[in-house]
Amino acid sequence: MSFRLKTIFGIALIEFIVMAVLILMNQLNFGGTASAQLFNRAETTARLFSTMVSDAVISTDLATLDSMVASTLSNDELIYLRVLGPGNTVMASGGDAGALAEPFAEDADFDAALGDHRVDVSHSIEIAGQDFGSIELGVSTAQVEADIASAVRWNAIGAALGILLVAGFGYLLGSILTRQLSILRDGAIALEGGNLDMRVPVKGRDELAQTALCFNRMAEALSTDRAALVERQATLIEKRDRVEEIVYCMGRIADKQPVHAIPSLKRGDEIGDMARATHVFQNVMDEVVRVRNEQDRLIKAFDRLNEEVVIFGVDGRMLFSNRAFQRANMGIIEAVGDDLTGAAFLSTGIEIGEFPDLAEGAIGPDFEALSRMFAGEGGVCEVSRKGGRHVMMQGTRVEGIGTIVTASDVTELRDSQAQLIHASKLATLGEMAAGMAHELNQPLGVIRMAAANCQRRMARNRAEPDYINDKFDRIIGQTERAAQIIDHMRIFGRKDEDRSARFDLVRAAQDAIAMMRAQLSGSALSIEENIDCSAAMAVGPRVMFEQVLVNLIANARDAIIAQAGDDDDPSGVIDLRIHKAPDGTQCILEVCDTGGGIPEQLMDRLYEPFFTTKEPGKGTGLGLSISYSVIVQMGGTIEVENTDVGARFRLILPLENSEHLAS
Ligand code: ADP
Repeated sequence: MSFRLKTIFGIALIEFIVMAVLILMNQLNFGGTASAQLFNRAETTARLFSTMVSDAVISTDLATLDSMVASTLSNDELIYLRVLGPGNTVMASGGDAGALAEPFAEDADFDAALGDHRVDVSHSIEIAGQDFGSIELGVSTAQVEADIASAVRWNAIGAALGILLVAGFGYLLGSILTRQLSILRDGAIALEGGNLDMRVPVKGRDELAQTALCFNRMAEALSTDRAALVERQATLIEKRDRVEEIVYCMGRIADKQPVHAIPSLKRGDEIGDMARATHVFQNVMDEVVRVRNEQDRLIKAFDRLNEEVVIFGVDGRMLFSNRAFQRANMGIIEAVGDDLTGAAFLSTGIEIGEFPDLAEGAIGPDFEALSRMFAGEGGVCEVSRKGGRHVMMQGTRVEGIGTIVTASDVTELRDSQAQLIHASKLATLGEMAAGMAHELNQPLGVIRMAAANCQRRMARNRAEPDYINDKFDRIIGQTERAAQIIDHMRIFGRKDEDRSARFDLVRAAQDAIAMMRAQLSGSALSIEENIDCSAAMAVGPRVMFEQVLVNLIANARDAIIAQAGDDDDPSGVIDLRIHKAPDGTQCILEVCDTGGGIPEQLMDRLYEPFFTTKEPGKGTGLGLSISYSVIVQMGGTIEVENTDVGARFRLILPLENSEHLAS
C-alpha cells in the first residue's frame, strides 16, 4: 500500500474513530436530555393536572372534569388522560382508546417507556393530605424518538462529510508529502540503476528537504567514489594485463623456454619491481640451466673417467659417485644399502674383504690414513684391493661440500714401477760396477797380499803360526767384507719386496751411502753423514727406500758435475742429514748438495714421470717420480727447496710406534 493511501486511510480512520466517539457522546447526551425533558414534562403535566382537577374531583363535577380532560388532550403529545376518583373509579378519561384499554403500568424511566413508545406516569390528587384519587396519563415518545433519529442521521451525515473532508485533506497532504518522497524514490531508483548524476530538487527546510539534501550529498559522494573506482578499475585492469604478461614470461622462464624481453622493466611501481624480480629470476634460471648443463657435462666426464670419484657431504653421506666408483665398489654399495657414508664404506669394505691388507682389523698407517680420509679429513693413501689390485686414494676436503675421494687403479703403474725400479736398480748396479770392482778389488788385493806373504814366509820356512794365523784372520775379514758387498748387491737386485716390513731408516740410509760412496770413490766428490739418531724404525719397502736415497744422491752428484762444466774432476759435497722430529713420531732425512740448485720454473715438474733435463741416454726422468710414490706409499712427504749453494730434498716419514710394533 502506498504511503499516500496509508496517510489517507490513517487520517480517515482516526477521523472516523473521533467522529464515532463524538457522535456517540452527542447522541447519548442529546437522547438523555430529550428523554429526561419528556419525562419531566409528563410528570409536570400529571402534577399540574391533578392540582387543576382536585376541586372538580372533590365535588364530583364530571362535566368539568371531561371538559378539562378534553382541553388538556389538545396537547398533541398526550396520548391518553384518566382521572381516577376515590376507590380508583374512573371519573373522566380521554385520548387513545387502545391505550386506555390497556392496564396502566407506570414507567420508571425513558427506556421503560420505549417498549410502547409512550411515557406512562400518574400523580395522586391530595387535598390537605387526604388522598382523593389519581391522575394517569401517557405522553407520546414519538417526537423525542424522531428527534433522536434525526439527530443520529444528521450526526452520521456530518461524520461522513467530515470523514470525506478529512480523507480529501489527507489525500492532499499525502500527495504533497509523497510527491517529495516519490521524487526521492525515483532518485534512489535512478541511483540504483547506475545514474549517479541524479539529483533531486530541494524545496523548503523540512525533514524531507533535509533528506533530499542528504540524498544529493550521498549521490555526489557515490558519483565521486564511482569516478575514483572507475579510474582505479582502469588502473587495475592495466596492471592486471601487465601482470599477466609478466606471469606469462615467468611461466616460460620456469619451463626453460626463451624469453627475449620482459615487459614493464622500466616501470617505477610494484609491477616494475615484479618485472625486475622476473628478470633476476630469468638470470638465475639461465644460471641454473647453465650450471645444470655444466653439471651434466661434469657428471658425464666423471662417468667417462677410469678413476673412481665419490663425494661425501659434510654430514658424511655420499652425495655423488661416478660409474667407475659404482662398478669397482658394487659389493660394498650393495652391502651398505642406501645410506652410504664414508665410515660405512670403509668398515663394510674391510668386513667383506674388499681391503685384504686391512681385513684382519690391522691398525696400521694405511688404516689410520683411510679412516681419516673417510672421516672427511682428506689425505692420500695407497691400498690393496681384492683381486691383487692397488688403488691410490686421495681425499680432498672442499669447504662447504665435504670430501672428494678419488681412487686410481695403480696396479699397472705399480707393476711397471717395480719393473722400472728394478731396471733403475740394474742401471745403478751397472753404474756402480766400476766402484764395485774397486770395492771388491780392495779386499781381494788384501787377500792376495796376505796369501802371497804367507806363501813367501812358508818358502823361507819362516811361517810362524801366529803370523799365519793373523794373515788368515785378515783373509777371513776381507772375505766377509766382500761377501757383505755381494750380499747387498744381491738384495738390491731383487724384484719383489714386502711393503709392510719394518726396517731401520738409519741403516738403510747408511747402506745407500755405502753404495754411492763406492761409486764416487776416486772422484773429488764426497758424501757427508750427519746422523742425529741411532735407529729410526719405519714400515715400507726397504730396498725401494734405499733406491730413493740413491736417486737423490745420484741427482746431487749429477748437479755438481753439471755445474762444474768442463772441469774433469769436479769437487763438491753431498750432505745427508738424519734427525727425528721433537715428538718422535717422524724421521726427517735431508739430502743437500752444492750443485747450484733447481731453476724455479722447473720446481712444479720435478715429479712428473720422464721429466729430465739431462742429456738423452743419461737421464730417464723417473728417479723423482718413483721416489715420490715410494715416500707417499710409506705415508711420508717429499719436499724440495734451493739453498744458497744447491738443492735440498727433505723426506719426512712416519715412524713405527711401539703400539704398532706390538701388533
Ligand atoms: P733424471 O735424474 O733421470 O733426470 P729425476 O726424476 O731424478 O730424473 O730428475 C728430474 C730432474 O730434476 C733432473 O733432470 C734435474 O733437472 C732435476 N734435479 C733433480 N735433482 C736435482 C738436484 N739435486 N739439483 C738440480 N736439479 C735436480
